[in-house]
This record gives sequence, structure tokens and C-alpha cells, in this order.
Amino acid sequence: MIKTAIITGASKGIGAVIAKRLNELNYNLVLNYRTNTALMEELIVNFKNKETKNIIVQCDVSLYEDAKKLIDEAYSTFGTVDVLINNAGITKDNLLPLMTEEEFDRVIDINLKGTFNSCRHIAKRMMKQRQGRIINISSVSGLAGNPGQVNYSASKAGIIGMTKSMARELGKKNILVNAIAPGFIKTEMTDKIPEEIKAEMMKNIPLQRLGKPEDIADCVEFLISDKASYITGQVISVNGGFYM
Ligand code: NAP
Repeated sequence: MIKTAIITGASKGIGAVIAKRLNELNYNLVLNYRTNTALMEELIVNFKNKETKNIIVQCDVSLYEDAKKLIDEAYSTFGTVDVLINNAGITKDNLLPLMTEEEFDRVIDINLKGTFNSCRHIAKRMMKQRQGRIINISSVSGLAGNPGQVNYSASKAGIIGMTKSMARELGKKNILVNAIAPGFIKTEMTDKIPEEIKAEMMKNIPLQRLGKPEDIADCVEFLISDKASYITGQVISVNGGFYM
């Protein structure tokens, strides 16, 4: 029986690499993105495994009804969803005295409320299935804080609290909910960070390299496997030792 996974924010960066990995692991995929249709289509065209089925659902996960559409389309196409990965996220960095209300609200809406929205809409269905795995992508910023990221670290810390509450609620239905807290991973999101700040951050990474999206995909692969069937409510840091 082929399993099905939903990945939000799958058009590039970490989400796209997780999608490639799950394709190789023989999952049917429901791939979500918000703006770049060409990128999303190109990802599927280049999938190595052509035996599975993939659908694309364009929507903004920060909108409650859009997230409902994502989950509804997944279930109407595949009947069951085994894995939900809440990966969609943005940054809008600014120092606290300069941060606008819009910068704060947008980051909370996409990162935190977006994660709530898709979990909220899938919860009853996964409970009915009596099985499921949910992985929420948090961040080292949610654990340690980061100057310029009051909005982002609040959203990512919120995801951790939400993950733990969901794990407590859903465990009795055999739904496992965990968070991954990536460190500094090389994607478009981190390409925006000025070189001098990157150099400063590198000094504090014991493994002396940036993470790769594949490092996060490895952790996802483990958390959705049978080998992780007694792990729930955890935050797994994948950060090269950047924060311990
Ligand atoms: P990225 O390269 O900027 O990709 C973000 C993805 O999210 C894109 O596919 C984007 O699609 C999608 N997205 C953004 N807003 C959306 C919305 N409202 N609805 C649906 N999709 C939306 O980012 P990344 O670096 O891969 O980050 C992925 C996740 O890991 C994020 O949650 C991020 O906070 C987290 N993370 C990243 C790092 C890092 O170092 N890179 C570290 C810690 C945590 P469109 O472009 O089509 O809008």
C-alpha cells in the first residue's frame, strides 16, 4: 500500500528536498506552495520515482479556508493521509524598535497560524484513521531567540508549544506529533543574511558548516519511519551543534 504525505511550502528549499526524498521513499505527495507555479511543476517533472501519484495544491496556509482546501483535496484524491509536514514559513527580520505590525503579523500568520490551520483540518480525519505522523518545522530561533527575529522566534517557539499539546491530545489515537528545529540551513531564506553575520554565526557551529536541506530530510525520513514509532512531542534539533 502506497503511503501519502502532505508537504506545505514544497516548491523550494527544505520543503522541495523533503518532497524529493519522500518521492524516493515511494510516497504519493500532496505538494503545496503559494506563488511560484513553475518551480513547483519543475520539481515534480524531475522526480526520480515515476510510480507514485502527485498533486499540487496552490494556497496560502495562513488562511483557514485555504488550508481546509489543501487537506480536503488530499483526502478526496488519496482517501488517507499518513504524514503531514508543516514546512511553509517566512522571515521578515527587523530590530524590535523598527519592526512593523505588518512584519510581526505576517510571520505569525504564516508560520504559526498556518501550522495550526492544517493540523486543525487534518486532526479529525487522522483520528478516524487511528494513525498519522505530523512534523512541524520549527527553528533554532524558537529555542534560543535571535536578534532581529522577535516575530520569527515567537512563531517558531509557538510551534513547539503547539506540537507538545497536539502530541498529548492525539497520542491515544496513534498520531505522533514532533517538531524539527533546524539550525542554519543553506536555502534562499538564509541566502538573504548578510555575509558578515553568516561568518559570525559559523564561529558558533561546532561542525563548522552550514546545514543542507538533506540533513532535515534525513530527520524527516527517520521520524516517519517505523523506527520512530515511540517518539512523540519531541523537538529534534538539526543544527551542527549551533545550540545545545
Ligand atoms: P524557503 O526556501 O524560503 O521556502 C519556503 C517555502 O514556503 C516556499 O515553498 C514558499 O512557497 C512556501 N510558503 C511561504 N509562505 C507560504 C504560504 N503562506 N502558504 C504556502 N506556502 C508558503 O524557506 P526554507 O529555508 O526552505 O524554510 C523552510 C522551513 O524551514 C520554514 O518553516 C523555515 O522557517 C524553516 N527553517 C529554515 C531554516 C534555514 O536555515 N533555512 C532554519 C530554521 C528553520 P512560495 O515561494 O511559492 O511562496
